[in-house]
Amino acid sequence: MSAADIVSMNIDAANLGSIGRMRPHILTPLFAGSRDLDGIGPRIQKLLKRLLAPHSQDDDAKIVDLLLHFPSSLIDRSARPTISQAVPGELATIEVTVGEHRAPPRGQRRIPYRVTCSDDSGSLELVFFHARPDYLQKLLPAGETRIVSGRLEDYGGRLQMPHPDHVVKLSELDELPLLEPVYPLTAGLSGKVVRKAIAQALVRMPDMPEWQDAAWVTKNNWSPFSKTISMAHAPQSDTDLLASAPTRQRIAYDELLANQLALALVRARLRKVPGRATEGTGKLRQKILVALPFTLTPSQNFVLDEIGADMAEPMRMLRLLQGDVGSGKTIVALLAIASAVEAGRQAALMAPTELLARQHLKTLTPLCEAAGIRIALLTGREKGKQREHILSSLESGDLDLLVGTHALFQEGVEFSDLGLAVIDEQHRFGVHQRLALQAKSGTGGTDILVMTATPIPRTLLLTHYGDMEVSKLLEKPAGRQPIATRAMPVERLGEIMERLGSAIEGGAQVYWVCPLVEDSDMLDVTAAEERHATLKKRFGDKIGLVHGQMPGVEKDAVMQAFSGGDISILVATTVIEVGVDVPNATIMVIEHAERFGLAQLHQLRGRVGRGTDKSACILLYKPPLTDTARARLNALRKTEDGFLIAEEDLKLRGGGEVLGTRQSGMPEFKIASLPRDTELLAAARDDAKLILSRDPDLTGDRSEALRTLLYLFERDEAIRLLKAG
Ligand code: ADP
Ligand code: MG
Repeated sequence: MSAADIVSMNIDAANLGSIGRMRPHILTPLFAGSRDLDGIGPRIQKLLKRLLAPHSQDDDAKIVDLLLHFPSSLIDRSARPTISQAVPGELATIEVTVGEHRAPPRGQRRIPYRVTCSDDSGSLELVFFHARPDYLQKLLPAGETRIVSGRLEDYGGRLQMPHPDHVVKLSELDELPLLEPVYPLTAGLSGKVVRKAIAQALVRMPDMPEWQDAAWVTKNNWSPFSKTISMAHAPQSDTDLLASAPTRQRIAYDELLANQLALALVRARLRKVPGRATEGTGKLRQKILVALPFTLTPSQNFVLDEIGADMAEPMRMLRLLQGDVGSGKTIVALLAIASAVEAGRQAALMAPTELLARQHLKTLTPLCEAAGIRIALLTGREKGKQREHILSSLESGDLDLLVGTHALFQEGVEFSDLGLAVIDEQHRFGVHQRLALQAKSGTGGTDILVMTATPIPRTLLLTHYGDMEVSKLLEKPAGRQPIATRAMPVERLGEIMERLGSAIEGGAQVYWVCPLVEDSDMLDVTAAEERHATLKKRFGDKIGLVHGQMPGVEKDAVMQAFSGGDISILVATTVIEVGVDVPNATIMVIEHAERFGLAQLHQLRGRVGRGTDKSACILLYKPPLTDTARARLNALRKTEDGFLIAEEDLKLRGGGEVLGTRQSGMPEFKIASLPRDTELLAAARDDAKLILSRDPDLTGDRSEALRTLLYLFERDEAIRLLKAG
C-alpha cells in the first residue's frame, strides 16, 4: 500500500484556497462574506457568523449561509380593513387621516402618548409608551394621510393600536412588507438587519443550472433552485414555512443529494480498486483461541463469519462493526487480522489515541506471541532508529501487524502487502479523516474494517458512511453484572469519599473523571489536578492522575500502574473515554456529569462493568439541573443498552452531535433534518447511485451542475477525490 496520508488530507481540507480556485465560477458571489454587503460592520458580521456559521473556520458567514437561513414564521399584515371593519386582536394595515396628538402630563410616564386617527368609518387611537413627542410629530403630522400597520386592541370599547410596526406615507406603500418573514435570530441581532442582509443576498444570487433530474423536478412540482430560494424567503402563508412545503423539500433534497453523491463517489472510487480474496487457513486463529481465557460469544462468532466471508470475496471489504462498549470488539479484530496474516498478508490496527494504541499493543502482544504473529507499535513517539527499524521490517514483510495512531498512515509508512486495515473507535475520527481514510487506505485492494461503540441509527449511518456493510455485536460476554448507576449532588462528596475509602481497602479500583484539565473560562469546574490534590490528601500514594496534556511516557506509567493495581484511584479527564480496558476497575465517579453528553457518559461508564465483579457508577452533579441534563442522567440510570441510549441522545440533541461531528467540523445539514426527511434521503441515495452508474466520473451533461451542487453544500472533499482519479 502506498502511504495513505490522512494528515496531509486534513491539511488539504483546511486549505480552502486551493479549493476556492477549483470552485465553479457561478458560485463566486455566493461564497463572498457577509461583510461585502451594505450595512454589515464588524459587529453585525460577528453576530451573523454566530447565527449562521458557528462551526465554520472563517470569521464571517457567507452569502450562501444567508440564503439558506429560512424564515421560521410570518407576519401577515395584508388585511386592509377600514377602521369600522377592523378586528381587535388582529394585525391590520389601515389608511388613516392623522388627528390630534395628546402628550401625557409632565412626569406621568405611565400614561401613554396618544394620537387620534380616523377614516370615513370611524376613529382609532395610536398609543405610544415612553414616547418622544418630537419624533412622533414628525412621523404623524396632523391632517395628513398615513398608512399604519400593527396589532389592534380593544381598550374599554375604544379601538387602539399600540406601537404600530410601520407608519408610511401613501407614496411609500411599496416599502411596507404586507407579508413579513421572521427569521431565527441570535442575541443582539435584529430581525430588520437580517432581513436587509438576506434581501441583498437574494439580489446577488445567480441563476443556477439545474442539477436535478428534470422529470423528478416536474413530478414534485418544484421550481428551479434560485427561484425556490427566493420563494422560501417570501412565504405567502404559514404552510409555506412547513418542512413539507415544496420549497423546503426541494432544498432539503438538494442538500441530501449532495451528501449522498459525495459518499457514493467515495465508495465508487474504493470499488474501482479491485479487491483480493483473503482466505485464512485458521491455523493462527486456532492458536489465539486456545490462548484466550474465555470462549467467544455467539455474537462474536457470528460477526467473525460475516467478516471472514467478506474477506474471502475478491471484492474489497468495507465493513462497519458496531458493538456497545465492552462487547469485545478487540478480539474480533485480532481474529480477523489473524486470517489476513494466515493468507500471507499484513494488517494494521489504528486507534484514535496513543493511550488506546498502547493498550491494544499490551493486550494483543501475548496473544500474538502465542500465535507467532509479529506485532509492533507506531505512534508519533516512535522516533529515530526505533522508527526506522519498524518501517524497514514493515516494508520487507518482517512485520505482520502494525498497531498505532494515525501515524500509521503517514508519509513513509509502506507496507509490503497490507491485506486488512482495522480502524478502532471510528466515531472519534472526523468525517474528513474518515472519507480520506476510506478513499486512501490503499491502492492495493486492502480490506477495511471499522469498529465503533456508537450505535448509529440507520438513517445517520447512511448520511455519514453511505452504503457500508454492517456487522453488530448484539450481546456482551456472559457473566457481566449490571452497573449500579446513581446520580448525586456534589454536596455529598464527603460521604462518597468515605465509602470509596472502604471499597479501596477491599481491593476495588476507581476511575474519577473530571471535565476539564485546567480552570478555563468555566471557573467553577473542579479541575482534575485540583481533585487529584484533594484526594491525595485523603488517600495518599494510592492515587494517580492522567490527562491529555501530560507527556506520553508519563501517561503510560500511570496507566501501567493502574492496570497493574498499584494505583487504586485514577483521576482522569475524558482521555479515558474510549477503549480503556482495566477489567478490575469497578467504580466510576463522574464529576459534573451534567456537563457531559449522553453518549459520552455511556462511553465513560463503559470503562467499568468489564469483569465479573459488581460495578457502580456515581454521577456527581452540581444542582440545579437543567431539564435536558436531568433527562440525560435519568436515561443513563434506566438503561445500559447503548442503542436505547443513542436513540434517547438523538431525541435530546441533533443527529450530528450523536456522532460527535460537531467537534470534528463536519457541517451539519442546514435544511434537511433526520429522521424527518428519511424518505427524501432514500430517494437521494437511489438518485446518487443512478447518477454514478450512468456517469461514474461525473463528466456527462449534468455533471457540471452536479459539481456545482457539491460545492454549494460544501462537499468538496468528494470532488478532490474525483480529481485525484
Ligand atoms: P470493546 O468492544 O469496548 O472494545 P473490548 O474488546 O475492550 O471491548 O473487551 C472488553 C473486555 O471483555 C476485555 O477485557 C475483553 O478481554 C473481554 N472479553 C472480550 N470477549 C469476551 C468473551 N467472549 N468472554 C469474556 N470476556 C470477553
Ligand atoms: Mg475497544
